[in-house]
Formats: sequence, structure tokens, C-alpha cells
Amino acid sequence: MAELEAEGRSNEAAELPEVLVRRLRAGELWHAVLLLGEPSQTKRAARWLARALLCEAPKTDVPCGRCRSCAQFAAGSHPDVWESGDEGLKAGDVEALQGWLATKGHGTRKVYLLHGVDDMTPVAANRMLKTLEEPAVGTYAVLTATSRQKVLSTLRSRSFSCLLPASPPFTFTDPTSVPVVKRAASAEDPSFAGLMDRVIEWTETWLSGGASPWEMAASWQSIAKDVPAEDGLLLLAEWFRELMRVRAGGHAERFARWQEALRRIAPILEVGQYAACVQAVMDARLRLQSHVAWLLNLEQMCVRLREVTTSW
Ligand SMILES: [Zn+2]
Repeated sequence: MAELEAEGRSNEAAELPEVLVRRLRAGELWHAVLLLGEPSQTKRAARWLARALLCEAPKTDVPCGRCRSCAQFAAGSHPDVWESGDEGLKAGDVEALQGWLATKGHGTRKVYLLHGVDDMTPVAANRMLKTLEEPAVGTYAVLTATSRQKVLSTLRSRSFSCLLPASPPFTFTDPTSVPVVKRAASAEDPSFAGLMDRVIEWTETWLSGGASPWEMAASWQSIAKDVPAEDGLLLLAEWFRELMRVRAGGHAERFARWQEALRRIAPILEVGQYAACVQAVMDARLRLQSHVAWLLNLEQMCVRLREVTTSW
């Protein structure tokens, strides 16, 4: 179970080099990290690191997604996070950051994210040096760049560089789901017969907004009653992952038989929303191990799924 749990939790962590996640969870992360890779990926990874650094849960469980800090982060209103660089990094941005760093934090840690440090103006980069060189206790810098060569060498030498693996998260598949998806797709197993059609119908009911989270939870309980709870949730998570893949312009890989439904449903939400759906289902699957009543667990999941469709 411990292994399954680690896998379920590590969807986003899987985008980061193992050494980084290991040091983070051991409480030994470098005070300045430079993430190298494609911008949307490094940005996602940088935010994951920030969320994990500020999470209030035990180190091995970060980011938990449930504590006050994680909630503030998800709402985009965490007082101890600074993020800039979406429109280039100029000396003024660095000055503003330094001003923020000089103020007292709300918690014990502060994290700042600077995107595109390879496009930073030289003046801005030089202003950053001192800040990177003399980090305050509990302050972490996460820098992102596309090209390592273009990052000023003095900046590079003051941070730990990490090249992110090339694959975007929507190609990442939970290996434990492979046999489950196979059984559902082959339709030879009687307990899985017709299950995918019911999952598709359930998805469309949810997306149409025609049922409350409580009705959706009860409905899931009934359509997946013949398969182990864990398998049902794995199948649902993989289904959302496939929708995300198709939404991102990829090909249907694991539910190719339901091509038509995929094409019909995928455009309804954004890629990020499907990612949040996958997370909501994986969290419900993790809760299976914590003795939360099954229906209550499903209700929590459906409330989150509803939030994904309404609050973006
Ligand atoms: Zn947390």
C-alpha cells in the first residue's frame, strides 16, 4: 500500500528529478534551485515545490492539498509566496522582490519564484546576486529557465540546476492502473462489462451540472458496485487523464474504443481542470486507506469535481 500511495501522490512530483523530491522530503532542499525545461513545465514544477515547502503537513506527505497553507496556495493568495517573471524580469521586479523579502513572513518560510531568468536583463541579474548569495533563514528561491547557457554564470553558480524530464504530465500514467484499464476495455470480465459506458454517462451528467455532488457520489457508488473501490477510482482517474491528453491535442491511448465520447467530452474543460480532476480522484483513492466512510469519501471527491467545473 505504501508504494501505491507514493505513486498516487507523485503525479506532479514525477516531473521533478528524484534527488530534488528526496531532499525536499528530507528537509534538506537547497536554498536556491534552478529548474530547466519547457516554460509551462518548469512553472508547474516550481509551484509544486513552493506548495510543498510551505505545506504544514509532515515532510513526507507534502504537499498535502488539505492544510491551510495548501488552500491559500490553491486560492493564489499565499502571503509567503512571491512569483514574477511572466512578462520578463527587470531590475524593478528584483527591487520589488527584495522589498518583499525584507518584510516579516506570516509563517516560518518564504518562497519566491522567478520565471525566465535566462531572459533577465543583466542589471536585474546582477541585483539578484546578493540576494542569492546571502539567503535569509527559511527563504527559498526557485528560478526557472529554458536555456541553461543563457543564464548568467554567476546566477547558475549560486543555485542548484535541475533539468526536468521532457515528458509533460498528461503522458504520465499510473502503472498500477494498466491491468484495470485493460479489464475495463476488454469487456470480457463480467464485473467490468458496460462499466465504461456508465462512467461516460456519469461524466456527462456531472459536466452538464444536472446533479448535485451528493447525487453524483451515490450514482458512482451504484455504477461501480461490482468492482473493488480502488479499481473503480483508478479507472476514473485514468479516464480523466485520457480526456486531458485528448484536450491537449494528443491521441486517445487507453480508451481508444470510446473515441467518440472522448472527442465529445474533452473540449468541455481545460487541460488544467482535467489535471485537477485526476488529483481529486487520486486523493479519494488515498483516503480509502484512512477509514473514511466510502460514501463520505465519494462525496468529498464529487464536491471537488464540482468546484473544478464552477470555480475556474
Ligand atoms: Zn498542505
